Amino acid sequence: MNSPQPPLEDHLVSHRQLQVRRIEQICQLLLVCLPFMALTNIQVERRHVLLIIVSGWLLVGVSLWLSRIGRHEPARQLLILSMFALASLAMWFDQGPYNGVLLGYGAILVIAGMLARMRLLFALLFLMLAWLGWLNYAEISGLRTFEVQPLGLRRFINSAVFLSVIACTVWWLASDLRSLLARLRAENRRVRESEVSLAYQAQHDALTGLPNRLLARDRLEQALQQAHRAGRQVALLYLDLDNFKAVNDSFGHAQGDELLREVAARLRASVRETDTVCRLGGDEFLLVLAELEHSEGAVKVARKIQANLSAPLQLGEVALNCSCSIGIALYPGDGDCFASLSQHADMAMYEAKAAGRRTFRFFDAQMNASQAAQMQLDAGLRGALQHEQFVLHYQPVVDLQTGQLRGAEALLRWNSPEQGLRGPETFIGYAERSGLIVEIGEWVIDQACAQLAAWQAQGLPRLVLAVNLSPVQFRRGNLDRVVSTALQRHAVPPSCLELELTESVLLQDSRDFAELLTRLKRLGVSLSIDDFGTGYSNLSYLQRFKVDRLKIDRSFVGSLSSDHSARAIVSAIAGMADSLGLQTTAEGIEDREVLALLSQLGCSQGQGYLFARPLPVEAFIEFARTQARPPV
Ligand code: C2E
Ligand code: MG
Ligand code: MG
Repeated sequence: MNSPQPPLEDHLVSHRQLQVRRIEQICQLLLVCLPFMALTNIQVERRHVLLIIVSGWLLVGVSLWLSRIGRHEPARQLLILSMFALASLAMWFDQGPYNGVLLGYGAILVIAGMLARMRLLFALLFLMLAWLGWLNYAEISGLRTFEVQPLGLRRFINSAVFLSVIACTVWWLASDLRSLLARLRAENRRVRESEVSLAYQAQHDALTGLPNRLLARDRLEQALQQAHRAGRQVALLYLDLDNFKAVNDSFGHAQGDELLREVAARLRASVRETDTVCRLGGDEFLLVLAELEHSEGAVKVARKIQANLSAPLQLGEVALNCSCSIGIALYPGDGDCFASLSQHADMAMYEAKAAGRRTFRFFDAQMNASQAAQMQLDAGLRGALQHEQFVLHYQPVVDLQTGQLRGAEALLRWNSPEQGLRGPETFIGYAERSGLIVEIGEWVIDQACAQLAAWQAQGLPRLVLAVNLSPVQFRRGNLDRVVSTALQRHAVPPSCLELELTESVLLQDSRDFAELLTRLKRLGVSLSIDDFGTGYSNLSYLQRFKVDRLKIDRSFVGSLSSDHSARAIVSAIAGMADSLGLQTTAEGIEDREVLALLSQLGCSQGQGYLFARPLPVEAFIEFARTQARPPV
C-alpha cells in the first residue's frame, strides 16, 4: 500500500519555508565569510573596501534578523540588494570591472531568480548593466582609472572566499530544485494512481470488490457483440439471496457484510474466468455468462450456484445455510441490450421467489404480459381512489329465528370505467400485495360509517354494519386511529360497527398486535372472525382476544344439507361459540333447507342469496324498509 502523500498545497508551503531557510543560510554564510575578506583588506589605503565589507556585513546581519522575526520579503530584498551594492561599490573603489567581484553579479542574479520575485531580478539586471556602463564611461571619460592589481595572497583569499560562497549557494539552490522536481514527480504519480483507483471504484463494489452495475453493463455489451458474431447465446442471471434481511436483522450489519463477501466468493467460484459476477447492491447480484452454446449451460450454472451457496457458511459462531432465487434471461431470445435483459431476468427472479425461493426461472413472454397487467391494475386502482370509483354494496344479515334484519356486510366493488362493476376477487389480492389496500381500506371504513350515519338520519332501524379488514391493514398499526376518526367524523355509535378479521390475522402473536386489538375493542366496536373454520386449527386465540362473533364459512353452510361432516363441523362451531359466549353468523345461505338446519343447530344470524345478494345502497334501503322476511 502507498503511504499517504501530502497534497500539492503542502508542497508549496514547505517550498516557501525552504526558501526562507535558504535566505537565512546565505546570510549566515556571508556573516562568516565576509570577515575573512575584511581581514585581507586591513590596510590604510584599502579602508574604503574595508568599510564597504563591514557595512555589507551589518546589512546581511539586519537581513537575517528581519527573516528571523518573520519579515521574509524585506529580508530577502535587503540581502540581495546589499550584496549587489557591496559588489558594485567594491568595483568602484577597487579595479572596476577587472575586480573578481564581477563574478558575484552572476551569483546574485541566480539567487534573485531562485529566491526573489521576477521584478527584482530584472531590476537588478538593469542596475548591473547600468553600473557596468557607468564604470566603462568613467574609465573612458578619464573620470576614474581602474587598474588591475597584481596577483597575490589577498586576491587569492578574496577569490577563494567568493567562489566558496557562490558554490555553496548554487549547491543549495540546485538541490532545492532537484527535491522540488522529485516531489512534483511523486505528486504526479500519486495523481495518476488516484485516477486509476477512482476509475476502479467507479466500476467496482466497495464491499465485495466485484464489478458493479456499470461494469456489468459494459461486460454484457461486449459479450453480446461477441455472441452476435459467433452466433452464440448470452445468459444474464439476476440473483437475490433468500431471507438476507433476516440475517441482517438478527446478526447485525457487520455479519451481513461478511455473508455478502462469502457469497461473492462462492459466486465467483461457480463461473468461468470469462464470465462476470457483479453486485448490484444489497443482496442482489448479476451474472453475465458469455458465449453459451445452449441454454442448458445457464441451468448448469444456476444449479452449481445453488449447490455452492447451500454449503454451511460460518458467520462467527453460527453456521448458516444460504440460498438464492435466480431469474435467467437469454440473448437473443429475451432481449438484445442490458436494459431489456436485466429487466426480464429481474422479472424471472420474482417468479422464482413466488415459486417458493431456492430455485431459478427462465424469463418467458407471459411474465411480461402479467407484469404489464399488474402495472395497469396498479394505475387503475390508484385512479379509482382518486376519482372515487369504489362503491360499497350491502348484503343484509338477518336473525335466523325471527327473520328480522340485523345489519349488513359492506362488500367492496370497483366501478371501473373500462370494465364496469368489478368484484373484489379481481383486485383485492393485488391491492394487498402492493399495500394499496391500506388506503382503500381506510376509504371503506369511512364510507361505511358515513352510510351508517345516513341510515340513521333516514330513520332506518338500528343496524350493525360489518366491514372486512385485510391483514395488511393490521400491520400498519394505526388502524384504531383510522376507525375512531371515522366514527367521530360521522358521529356513529361504535356498537354499530363490526370489524371482520381473518383467522390468519389472529395468529399473529406479537405484543403490538395484541395491543392494537385491545385498543380497537376499547373503542366499543365488535370483532368477528370471517370465513371461520377454513383457517388454522389452533383456537387458543379465541380465548386470548375478545372476539364477539364467528362467521361460519359458506363452504360448510352450502353443503350442510348434503354433507354429514359439514353438518358436524357447523354443529361443533355453534356449540363452541355458545359455550364461549360468542355469536354466530352463517354465510352463504342459499336455500330453505339449509336455513332450517342452521336454526336447529342454534346459529343466531345469517346472510346469503336466500335473503338477498349484496345490494347497491338504494336497493338495500328498500330491502330494509320492507323488512323482508325470508319465506319460512
Ligand atoms: P367475505 O367477507 O366472506 O364476503 C362474503 C362473500 O360471499 C361475498 O363475496 C358475497 O357476495 C358472497 N356471498 C354472500 N352470500 C352468498 C351466497 O349465498 N352464495 C354465494 N355463492 N356467495 C355468497 P364478494 O362480495 O365477492 O366478496 C368476496 C370477498 O372479498 C369477501 O369475502 C372479502 O373477503 C373480500 N372483500 C370484500 N369487500 C372487502 C373489503 O372492503 N375489504 C377487504 N379487505 N376485503 C373485502
Ligand atoms: Mg366478510
Ligand atoms: Mg366470509
